[in-house]
Amino acid sequence: MAEQRDHALLLRSIAYSDSSLILHCLTQQHGRISLMARGARRAKSPFRAALMPLFALQLRWKEPRTGSMGTLLEAQRFSALLPESMMLAGQTLLATASTLFPDGVSNGYAELQHACSLLSERSEDAGLCAATWVMLEQSGWTGDLNHCWHCVEPIDPNISMYWRQGHLLCSSCAKESGYKLYSGFRKTIASFMLQPNVSLKQEHITLWKMMIKDVFKTHQMRDSVGSI
Ligand SMILES: [Zn+2]
Repeated sequence: MAEQRDHALLLRSIAYSDSSLILHCLTQQHGRISLMARGARRAKSPFRAALMPLFALQLRWKEPRTGSMGTLLEAQRFSALLPESMMLAGQTLLATASTLFPDGVSNGYAELQHACSLLSERSEDAGLCAATWVMLEQSGWTGDLNHCWHCVEPIDPNISMYWRQGHLLCSSCAKESGYKLYSGFRKTIASFMLQPNVSLKQEHITLWKMMIKDVFKTHQMRDSVGSI
């Protein structure tokens, strides 16, 4: 069977039998894959030190004869995606990425890397909002902040919009019902996603978190950002 090699990020690993692990990874070229890491839980396994979440990894694996799970042959660990103090917040991002980029999708690797770099340059609370929002946008769960997500009309950044049931709406689509988002809010979070030094008010962060929860609720998925 063919061997493959790729850059990868570990989403999660699940114990299998007495000594092995099943890995879920986002890879640069091969999308999301599952791999069996035989013996990875043994103390002397070379996989043990390498297989860390939130680190840049390079993996080599054998493709399966049948089914979809390959066999890990080699794992190398490179730099951390986040500073040590943010590894816990990073776990929240991994859970979100796992939901947004399920089995069979070809993207996710660059998106998760981008999200980690946004988080690493910002304060944890607001940074987690920015990182999560970027992944929501890139996976198509949300639209951009300059258009109504219903009629797709471009909306001037100085005009108020409405937030309703996980959607950003113009005033004519919202018919004045929903949570009113004043223009300052959209402008502030848009520039915060581009520049880490933009200061966000606590009320903006609280509102942003509510919107993120709403998007997950609307998609009726497990709310993996519940802890932020
Ligand atoms: Zn509209």
